[in-house]
Amino acid sequence: MGSLRFIFGDQLSLSISSLQDVDPALDMVLMCEVADELTYVKHHKKKIAFQLSAMRHFAKDLEELGISVKYLKIEDAQNSGSLVDEIECVLLGQEWDRIVLTQPSEYRLLQEIEQWHKKFRIPIEMREDDRFLCSAEEFGQWLANRKQPRMEYFYRELRKKYKVLMEGVKPVGGKWNYDADNRKSPDVSMEVPTPYTSNIDEETKAVIRLVDERFSDHFGQLEPFHYAVNRHEALQSLELFIRERLQDFGDYQDAMVEGQPWMYHSHISLYLNIGLLLPMECIEAADRAYKQGKAPLNAVEGFIRQVMGWREFVRGIYWAAMPSLASKNFLQASRALPSFFWTADTKMNCLKQCVLETRENAYAHHIQRLMVLGNFALLAGISPEEVNEWFLVVYADAYQWVELPNVSGMALFADGGYLASKPYSASGAYINKMSNYCGKCSFKVKKKNGSDACPFNYLYWDFLARNRDKLASNHRLGMIYKTYDRMDEEKKKLIADDSQSFFKSLS
Ligand code: FAD
Ligand code: SF4
Repeated sequence: MGSLRFIFGDQLSLSISSLQDVDPALDMVLMCEVADELTYVKHHKKKIAFQLSAMRHFAKDLEELGISVKYLKIEDAQNSGSLVDEIECVLLGQEWDRIVLTQPSEYRLLQEIEQWHKKFRIPIEMREDDRFLCSAEEFGQWLANRKQPRMEYFYRELRKKYKVLMEGVKPVGGKWNYDADNRKSPDVSMEVPTPYTSNIDEETKAVIRLVDERFSDHFGQLEPFHYAVNRHEALQSLELFIRERLQDFGDYQDAMVEGQPWMYHSHISLYLNIGLLLPMECIEAADRAYKQGKAPLNAVEGFIRQVMGWREFVRGIYWAAMPSLASKNFLQASRALPSFFWTADTKMNCLKQCVLETRENAYAHHIQRLMVLGNFALLAGISPEEVNEWFLVVYADAYQWVELPNVSGMALFADGGYLASKPYSASGAYINKMSNYCGKCSFKVKKKNGSDACPFNYLYWDFLARNRDKLASNHRLGMIYKTYDRMDEEKKKLIADDSQSFFKSLS
């Protein structure tokens, strides 16, 4: 008797643990496009097209290897729309010795699988997702010895473990972290290379038509569609990044330029998160470029820190902090998400540009997410639940395991400082330094108060004043509170009044 191998939509790696001992003569792979998964939040149209096309291509790759695949398309008449029902149906049709799967990436699905034992009455073998560089268990052990987890120390441990950018026991170049070199303001005359653009095949064209018909009320532009949808294309996109962008990745990592959504970033998160690329091969590709003298250390270390450090760290935090992380609201933020997060109809140019680019590409780079969109949501006190839902909907790389710690932990400080040691809050000066958005804005970034002053300027201080009882004891904010306390009462009143008028205008 063979075994039934179940593959989730973000497990599209031939080397995944659930396939490692697959027997093509006896076993069958089951893959389902499940309506529940595509609509539990109303994902960006481009994300759905990417997901479905990548799944369909992966099923074909398996078949070409001689593996039998039962694949349920969303449009199949017999597709019930529910994962459990689909598995039950397959189990009724044929006898299997067990179900083999790799642990799902999200807590909600893990909970669901725990019910399968009762329901299906055959052994369920759930294997570790060894595509990650640190298991949840290993992260738990690391965490157990720490009062406060900090990414930097975790990242150093992984560098040592995998001997990446190491010279014996010392980091290459003598420093662990070259972040201080990676904060160049944008140079608007720079010529950013064009991003990877795939050739759309018939399979993807059919998926695009399907998404257009079935998910027309979802957010986002479906076309032009340019993402890689199979392993071969994802590798090409990685190669292009290493060849054309990596050398400037470090310098302009935090820079934002109107009309340049892709900058020098890698645009590989969606491929990593769905399994078309593996983290170690991306790290090794960057490391090779450094060794061959094709990219400087600040760029290579910066990129490796994102993939080996941040990505693994947020995943560890997710499993360590769930399920309570999902309902954390340390600052008791409760404002509704302003409609311009969907429409881009705002006079604040930085927000407008970031929403427009998100709508078009299902992508925004890290600083746009953190220091424009996230920073605004933090300062304005928007409900973490609504902000999380927005971030889960709009990005092609969004899965709860990576989205939630980034939004609740990093951007909103909703976890009370578990992930970040202080809120990532900033006034207009930061956005002005790192972008060219302010030049075309209706507001004046240098003005601190008044109807034409940049809202980030007064909201920044109002946020600190509003949350004083929760933030004043944070030693990293001590100097900032001292600056606020030195302001005269009239200035403080202007800040509060401008903020109130701004909030009124939002509602
Ligand atoms: P690059 O800038 O080229 O970085 C290289 C890779 O490093 C990324 O592809 C990604 O895999 C990894 N990485 C970098 N930063 C992080 C991070 N903070 N957490 C995890 N991985 C990281 N990333 C997601 O993959 N999915 C999300 O849903 C997501 N939501 C976010 C929400 C907020 C509010 C913030 C601040 C960040 C979020 N991130 C998320 C992290 C990061 O912004 C994206 O991974 C990155 O912008 C993807 O673009 P890129 O591939 O060009 O990344
Ligand atoms: Fe954004 Fe303020 Fe600059 Fe306008 S002036 S783009 S609102 S930071």
